[in-house]
Amino acid sequence: MRVRHYVGGEFRTDGAPFPLVDPVTGGEAGTAPEAPQAVVDEAVRSARAALSGEWGATSPEERSAALRRIADGIDARFEEFVDAEVRDTGKPRELAATVDIPRAAGNFRAYADLLYGRPERAYTTTVPGWSGGTGQALNYSVRRPLGVVAVISPWNLPLLLLTWKVAPALAAGNAVVAKPSEETPSTATLLAEVIHDAGLPAGAFNLVHGHGADAAGAFLTGHPGVDAIAFTGESATGAAIMRNAADHVTPVSFELGGKNPALVFADADLDAAVDGTVRSSFTHSGQICLCTERVYVERPVFDAFVERLGERARKLDGYGPMISAEHRDKVLSYYRLAVEEGATVVAGGGVPVFGDGRDQGFHVEPTVLTGLPEQARTVREEIFGPVCHVAPFDTEEEAVRLANDSEYGLAATVWTRDLSRAHRVAPRIESGIVWVNCWNLRDLRTPFGGVKASGIGREGGEYSLDFFSEPVNVCIQI
Ligand code: NAD
Repeated sequence: MRVRHYVGGEFRTDGAPFPLVDPVTGGEAGTAPEAPQAVVDEAVRSARAALSGEWGATSPEERSAALRRIADGIDARFEEFVDAEVRDTGKPRELAATVDIPRAAGNFRAYADLLYGRPERAYTTTVPGWSGGTGQALNYSVRRPLGVVAVISPWNLPLLLLTWKVAPALAAGNAVVAKPSEETPSTATLLAEVIHDAGLPAGAFNLVHGHGADAAGAFLTGHPGVDAIAFTGESATGAAIMRNAADHVTPVSFELGGKNPALVFADADLDAAVDGTVRSSFTHSGQICLCTERVYVERPVFDAFVERLGERARKLDGYGPMISAEHRDKVLSYYRLAVEEGATVVAGGGVPVFGDGRDQGFHVEPTVLTGLPEQARTVREEIFGPVCHVAPFDTEEEAVRLANDSEYGLAATVWTRDLSRAHRVAPRIESGIVWVNCWNLRDLRTPFGGVKASGIGREGGEYSLDFFSEPVNVCIQI
């Protein structure tokens, strides 16, 4: 397939091509076009025109039907989407086929369902007199779309995270200009084809490819014609985007990095806690924002937990690579730093040898560390690889303190069979999401997002619709 921009309902490839790399083998995997400022400008203009044209006049029911056609279109080309996601990310095929692509279609269906059969959301309140005033008034507020929305997404769950923003943005009636990660542009291009075939009016959805800083990403987020920015990626990138957006006071919704804790209490089902931590630390080789990198285990079960987690980590196979040579080097630099900081390497810590083409790819070993002080950089900084540090704790109070001792606050996991403890501990954790005896169990209507350096705002269900629309209050004196 050819990676193409999609602007004003047309596919094009202007801009210098840049190379794509297969993370499994390190080999070349085609090219993508680098959108110059002029293409970004045109995409924003097309989006604006769509709002005052056919797209701006659609009803919620029409948008709901359009989202459903997009979901069906993804299903109809399911294998192509899976192939493209696997090629770009190197992730195991099973992961793409059971998580990424079905969830992408699910994102459109979730918002189609939310919109179906309901009028534009209007809230009405009657206010019988107000302080210092006379008479009565009828107040009602209607929500209207923000306008042109920029969507910037990362490489780890390329289509899933892109559609998680595009679906509610379109549902609320906005026009979108999306820029996927330069590392993983393929499924976004297929999505543009599906949206085109689904018959969305030209300009409702636009796609530009390219890099972030000083390139398409920055052109888009600093654009005066953009009314809101929805971004998922690193916290440092979020800060750069915020600076860029400040001149136009553009509202932002941010899903950023994490250094997620898991708390394992001595009363937990240890089999479930070990299983769950294998998943939460090593799924997609740790390249999911929700992955656990800090595990705190109550002292009586600490040794048993570490031994079993280490054994499971050593036996893992079939895992995918890091996304790039650069990211592999970053993760390996943390493996070395951990040792310099005094860690005991319980499992992994290096580069696996497969004896085949994968040895030129970007794999690192699933790694379990112990013995580091809390102030160690390895315990504080997001690594975004298949690695966790396990430390003991003695009291519930200490466990909560350790969990909260982080600049991040995205997702936490609590393992306990004590129901009262679960209810006591969960709300005290400074985190947008707390899972009890599970990990990454998702209901798309629930609020999703982080506190502290992990983000601004919430996505999911009505939360996304609230971000992507603005209430206008109408007050009528009676
Ligand atoms: P990244 O921040 O490097 O890039 C994300 C996107 O931003 C890319 O499309 C990139 O081109 C663009 N970008 C980079 N610099 C930019 C700039 N100055 N202006 C505008 N756009 C710019 O992130 P990544 O490496 O692709 O993804 C990994 C990070 O994403 C991790 O930190 C991870 O925790 C985070 N993440 C968070 C969530 C969440 O829901 N909270 C989900 C997935 C990933």
